[in-house]
This record gives sequence, structure tokens and C-alpha cells, in this order.
Amino acid sequence: MGHAGSVTLPKRFLLEGCDNCLFDPYNSIRDAILLAGRAPGLEHRTRETSEWLDQFEPELEKHRIYVIRRDLTTPTAYQEFLAEYWDKPTFLINLEHDVVPTLNAVIRLLNCPWPACTQAYELGGHVFTGPIHPDLKDPNWCDMTGFGLMKLAPLTRRQHPLPPMGTWEHLDYRYMYSIRKTEACFKWHTHPEIIKHNHPPET
Ligand SMILES: [Zn+2]
Repeated sequence: MGHAGSVTLPKRFLLEGCDNCLFDPYNSIRDAILLAGRAPGLEHRTRETSEWLDQFEPELEKHRIYVIRRDLTTPTAYQEFLAEYWDKPTFLINLEHDVVPTLNAVIRLLNCPWPACTQAYELGGHVFTGPIHPDLKDPNWCDMTGFGLMKLAPLTRRQHPLPPMGTWEHLDYRYMYSIRKTEACFKWHTHPEIIKHNHPPET
């Protein structure tokens, strides 16, 4: 049984084996936790995502994707939420409060053999992001991405820890720059099907 560290996880999250092993656990792990941070006070943007989770959580569990929701009520709560699960021996899928995925998109993220994947999503109603600076030669790869809907394998998270604790703004940028300091050629596999993002247009 793996060590759960300082966080007590329900039994369903605990995997056979040791989460301190140095071999690549990628081939043996098929479980994922889906972290769904919520932003109290932004219900007009977050309701659809919450309802999507209500509807699809049982289906996600069938695919061994376990949803953990949390109200993020302080400026550093977003990074603290990620940090709490960062070293767990499961895949980690992050879903931001106003991004509305599809079941297929989430399952494809988990099943994709690449260790770091990001899903494209709308920004401003028509311009999509996900890949912030896509590799123009190949739309399936980008060197930076937002955190709207992404997946990271456990070994990749161990190789690329979160940056020093900070506020939610630009957490994704801070992580991207932190990765690039140690691995300049790091690329995210991009899943280009654009999913909905209930974010008001920039004016
Ligand atoms: Zn992928």
C-alpha cells in the first residue's frame, strides 16, 4: 500500500505499490484524480461546470477518474489545492472552475500516452487558448499552456515541481517558466478539440 503522506485519502485513492519508487510508474498506474477548484461568488461562470461534474462524476469514476472539489477561498488556495495532491501516485487532471469539458475529452486526456497533455478551450467567446504559444508547425504540441483542463503524469510532476507558493493569478504561467528553467524544450501534447470556457470576453 502506498504512503498517503500528510493527506488522508479515501481508500479508493490508494494504490498498490510504493509511491516513492524511482521506476517510471507510468505503465502501471491508470487512476487519476480530477481536481475541480471552485470560485465562490462567480456562480454565473461556474454553474455549468458544477452541473457537468454533478452529472458526469459517476461516469468518471467508472473510468477510475476521481473528482475532488474544493472552494478556493484565499488567494493561495488554488496552488495549495494542487500542492496537496502533487506527489500522489496517480495522474492529475486539473479542471478550472469555468471550463466545461466533455466526457470524451477527459477520458482521452487520461488515456493519452503522453505524460503532459492540455485541452484547448475558448477564451473570449471565439479565440481559443489552451496552448498559449502553440508551436505553429504542429498544432498538436505547445510549449506553454493555461491550466483550464490539463493532465500531468506522476513522474512528470516529480520532475517538475510546482513553483514557490503564490496566488492563483498566473499560476499556470509561473509553472511554465519554472519548467522551462530546467527543461527548455518541454512540450505539452495538445488536444485540439475546443471545449467551452465561461469566461467573459476581454473588453
Ligand atoms: Zn495527449
